[in-house]
Parts: sequence; structure tokens; C-alpha cells
Amino acid sequence: MSYDQIEIPEAGTKITADEDGTLQVPDDPIVPILHGDGIGKDVGPAAQGVLDAAAAATGRSINWMRVYAGESARERYDENLPQETVDAIRDYRVAIKGPLTTPVGAGFRSLNVALRKKLDLYANMRPTYHLDGVPSPVKTPEKMDMVNFRENTEDVYAGIEWEAGTDEVETVREFVEEEMGFDATIHDGPVGIGVKPISEFGTKRLVRQAIEYALENDRDSVTLVHKGNIMKFTEGAFRDWGYELAAEEFPETTITEDELWEEYDGEKPEDVVVVKDRIADNMLQQLLTRTDQYDVLAMPNLNGDYLSDAAGAQIGGLGIAPGGNFGDGRCLAEPVHGSAPKYAGQDKVNPTAMILSGRIMLEYLGWDDAADLVRDAVEQTISSKQVTYDLHRQIEGGTKLATSEFADAVVENIEKLS
Ligand code: NAP
Repeated sequence: MSYDQIEIPEAGTKITADEDGTLQVPDDPIVPILHGDGIGKDVGPAAQGVLDAAAAATGRSINWMRVYAGESARERYDENLPQETVDAIRDYRVAIKGPLTTPVGAGFRSLNVALRKKLDLYANMRPTYHLDGVPSPVKTPEKMDMVNFRENTEDVYAGIEWEAGTDEVETVREFVEEEMGFDATIHDGPVGIGVKPISEFGTKRLVRQAIEYALENDRDSVTLVHKGNIMKFTEGAFRDWGYELAAEEFPETTITEDELWEEYDGEKPEDVVVVKDRIADNMLQQLLTRTDQYDVLAMPNLNGDYLSDAAGAQIGGLGIAPGGNFGDGRCLAEPVHGSAPKYAGQDKVNPTAMILSGRIMLEYLGWDDAADLVRDAVEQTISSKQVTYDLHRQIEGGTKLATSEFADAVVENIEKLS
């Protein structure tokens, strides 16, 4: 395949998948990278350098292929999300991106959401673990070691909404009140209406990924986080389908919390994952009060958004929190943070979230040695108090580094550690 604006690197080999979906990863893969808008210009190149160093230290190389969306695409293609960017990420299977700006209220819809939808990257995974030396607003941040799986294609991300004052919203109001016989209050006057779908298919494939991850990574539990006490047929169904999936597909390797107590007196057998559920508001407080009792969380989209940001705050905030989006045989890693336009191009912000998103990508490639090296080098850099502005303001006696200087320090530590 050739592209109009995307240059395929001369060196490097494409990642492919076998018929059963198993990835064939060469030691010199071609990997699409989208630097992104705003601070993407700073953190994108910084992460690239760190990932290059980790690959080199483990006898491999990454052949980067720049792809474009948002501002960089408007300059080249006069559109926000060129088809060839979507095609390249789909075709090359494993990619990494920086943040993309979304206008609030009006303007185009989120390009991040569009990318995840077009590529059917249905699970957003956010590991939340504490790195030694990172300042935290809680007393025992090291208790946090969770992996959040957030559904990425439906619930509020399906974006079914009608604007107040339009004919469409009046049609929906009439339909709901008259045809569906809905007799609770919709106040008179302008009203916006939204509908959220949560399907059996969407729920089960998300929960399947969460349970598989828990089993492969020796995790103790998967918690289904829902608001099923109020939204019985969407959030409540998410819980029910989650348990159903566990019983149908993992009968030997999962048990429920009730079974844990009734049959095992609270002592979890080895090689088994406990599937439990919590109501979302309770879960938000348990994040703080019973942090170490939670492990892998599986959530519909909106709960996952709130929960993973709150969990991220406990381990140092947006400058630190990494993420990845997964479909079947595809991964697009990206930090949790946005494009923070006020800092764009200042070589100032923390590239850790983008670097650790790269770590998720390396794990997906099966390069666990390189992934561990990245984590250890970042931790060593931060614990020696060499930090960017965001952590510097919270650490006494630290050295304030620019984005690029921090990345250089991480590279130096990779070289020392390997
Ligand atoms: P944001 O860009 O994440 O920035 C909010 C604040 O978080 C910043 O002002 C800064 O706080 C801190 N921060 C974020 N990234 C940081 C980093 N790497 N290092 C240090 N501090 C960091 O959130 P926003 O202002 O709400 O959103 C801006 C744009 O990004 C919007 O258009 C939004 O739609 C978009 N967005 C995109 C994604 C994505 O691409 N996946 C995700 C979220 C938001 P201080 O100023 O207090 O230091």
C-alpha cells in the first residue's frame, strides 16, 4: 500500500497476524506514531527517543512512521482525520499517539473517539501504579496497583444526543412521552436529550479482555463497576452480562465473591480470578479507603472515565497516567492527558504519561524486557528528583527539567540499567 502524505520507512518490517489473530512481531517493526496537538509536539518526540533507547538496549529497533490527525492533518490534508491515517494504524496494527484537541460545545467531534471507533479499539486500558518518588495527595500511594478497562465504543461514547430547541429533540420528547408512555418528568421548555446504549456484545468483549488480562498477569480480581441500582437496563445489564460471560467462558478460572466466602472461606485459590461488582459511587470512595482490595476494574465508558482519572490522581496525576486502546489484534497506546494548549511547544510538560504509554505498547509487542527497562528508568529518574515542572512544585530540593531534558535523563538511565 502507498500513501499520499505518509512516508513508509525504508527499513523495517510490518507486524502481521496469523489467522487465529496471533501477532507476528519482528525485531524491527514499523510503528505509526501520531505526535498530536498542543503538548503532543513536546511529549511525542520525547517518548520516541526513550522507546528507541529501550529497543536498542534489548537488541531491537523501532522504525517510526509519522501519521497525522488534528492540527498536523489540517496543515497537510485540510481535514482533521485523513482516511490514510486510519488505514495506516489499522494496517500496521500497533501504534502510539499523543493527545488531540477537541473543541468544547461546538465544532468537530472528538478525533480520539472517532479514531477508536473507526479502528474498533473497544477497550481502553489504563494501568494505575505508583512510581517511587512521585508525589501523591494520598498517604499510601503504593497501595494503588490497578488496571482499568473502560468500554470504548458505546454508553455515552455512542454520542446519541439531541440539542435543545431543535425539531429532533421535540420528536424524541413526543416519542418518549406519547408512544413509550414515559410518565416521569421532562420539564417544559428547552431540554437536551441523550440516549445511552449498552449492549451484550460490547459488554462481553470488554469483560473478556479484562478477565484474560487478569489471568495472564496473575491478578486477583476483576470488579464490574456500574450504576445498575439506577440504570437497570443499561448499567445493571452490564453487571449481569459481565457475570454471565465469566460463568460461560471462564467456568474453571473465575469464581464470584459469594463463592469465595461460601466455598473457600475468603481464601482465594491460586490460578483463579474473583469476579465481583461495585456500584460506581461506592467504588469511587473505595479507591481511597480500600485501595489495595481492587485490582482489575471493568467499566462502561463514563464510569471508566471518572474512575480512571480519580485513580490517576492518586498516583501523581495527568503527567504520569498512561493508557492504551485495544481491539482484536490491534493496539493504539496514548496518554490519559489532553493537549494542554497553554503549554504547547514550551518544552515544559511531563512526558512520563506518553513514555509509559509506550511501555504499554512494548508489552503488547511482547517486549517485556524493554518495557520493564522503561519503567525502571523512569522511576529512577523521578526518584533522583529530576523532574518536570508539575512534580517539581511538589518535591522539595528537586531539579526542574524541561521535557526533552527529562527524556534524556531517562535514556541515560536506560543505558546505565542495561
Ligand atoms: P489536559 O490537556 O489534560 O490539561 C489539563 C491540565 O493537566 C494541564 O493544564 C496541566 O495542569 C495538567 N497536565 C496535562 N498534561 C500534562 C503533562 N503532560 N505534564 C504536566 N501536566 C499536565 O486537559 P484539558 O485542558 O481539559 O484539555 C485540553 C484539550 O485536550 C481539550 O481539547 C480536550 O478535549 C483534549 N483532550 C484530549 C485527550 C486525548 O487526546 N486523548 C484527552 C483529554 C483531553 P497544570 O496547568 O495545573 O499544571
